[in-house]
Amino acid sequence: MLDLRIDNAVLPDGRSAMTLGVQDGRFVALGAGLDLPAHQRVDAQGMLLSPPFVDPHFHMDATLSYGLPRVNQSGTLLEGIALWGELKPELTQDAIMERALRYCDWAVAKGLLAIRTHVDVCDPRLLAVEALLEVKKRVAPYLELQLVAFPQDGLLRGARGPDQHLETLKRALGMGVDVVGGIPHFERSMEEGARSVRLLCTLAAERGLRVDMHCDESDDPLSRHVETLAFETQRLGLQGRVTGSHLTSMHSMDNYYVSKLLPLMAEAGLHAVANPLINITLQGRHDTYPKRRGMTRVPELLAAGVNVAFGQDCVRDPWYSLGSADMLEVAHMGLHVAQMTSQAAMRQCFDAVTVNAARVLGLQQYGLEPGCHADFVLLQARDPVEALRLRATRLRVYRRGRLVAQTPAAVSRLDLPGRPSSTDWMG
Ligand SMILES: [Zn+2]
Repeated sequence: MLDLRIDNAVLPDGRSAMTLGVQDGRFVALGAGLDLPAHQRVDAQGMLLSPPFVDPHFHMDATLSYGLPRVNQSGTLLEGIALWGELKPELTQDAIMERALRYCDWAVAKGLLAIRTHVDVCDPRLLAVEALLEVKKRVAPYLELQLVAFPQDGLLRGARGPDQHLETLKRALGMGVDVVGGIPHFERSMEEGARSVRLLCTLAAERGLRVDMHCDESDDPLSRHVETLAFETQRLGLQGRVTGSHLTSMHSMDNYYVSKLLPLMAEAGLHAVANPLINITLQGRHDTYPKRRGMTRVPELLAAGVNVAFGQDCVRDPWYSLGSADMLEVAHMGLHVAQMTSQAAMRQCFDAVTVNAARVLGLQQYGLEPGCHADFVLLQARDPVEALRLRATRLRVYRRGRLVAQTPAAVSRLDLPGRPSSTDWMG
């Protein structure tokens, strides 16, 4: 007897009228017309059943701090970093944890069950690291949190000096932070940026860790750190374990140079993460008109064989005042900014916040096939494109076969002459 059986579901790949069986927190059966005895049955009523959303790029130590101690007037990345620097001395562990846990509640309600978050490791007290390690432990029963040691002030540029910053970053890794981060475009020169990439990739290779760098997050067409990142990935045998985040300078780069760069990135097995809501907001701020969009070249990266995912990056913090842990909103913006409007491209945008993002994190047993963890979300939509169009309601969210969140279907009652009595915007 199964623990749970879901009937009449549509899967993201288009298979319909599917039955899924769950036992001991895992999928054990998947097929059309299966008749399996189960303690509990759920009729999906032809709605889309997807693996959970995955956010490959977030800053949980800063989230929900909007307005503290003031708001970002220029709207730029650089003022955001300065503002975060003002806030840091005032942070307390309790406040970071309270905000992070609140954000995780939002995430689960939105079917977002795995998040890679960067955590600032420039403060020698490592307050934020301690707080987020505790949050990671507390949310483990319902959400997978992966932490990246992120030297926000620059590994080589930070005020305490390179040796001290490297020591603090290593201490954070020793405490249990999972991934090595970096910010080469914020170092003092292109050369120093390249040196930070080499240092940090070498450190990751020595420790058998993954790498995720904020890389070329600028409108500078001559920023070249992703080239160095691809080179070091290959040199150190880190293929498939390294992510370049943002990569916004690729938007402004010379087309010939990009035609050389894309195959290098693919060859190195680099993952690319674009953060559409934030990139469209922060980049191009020094332009008059035309204003650059500042998102990396998503369709071209995908065509070159690079795994591309979309991240939320910021929610109500020094860089971005909006956001709600809704990865469909993230993908919706990515679709527009990248002009990915064909049916196939829109499905790729759905993948960018589910399967592709799971590959960035290196999640195991992610998916709907038998043997995978029974983590999934039932959406009020009939396919991924409709889910994107409606930023569909997450009707039911399951983690390891357990219902962890549910939301009533969105429907509006109408009182119009000669018209139906309600609409749900579907079809
Ligand atoms: Zn970021």
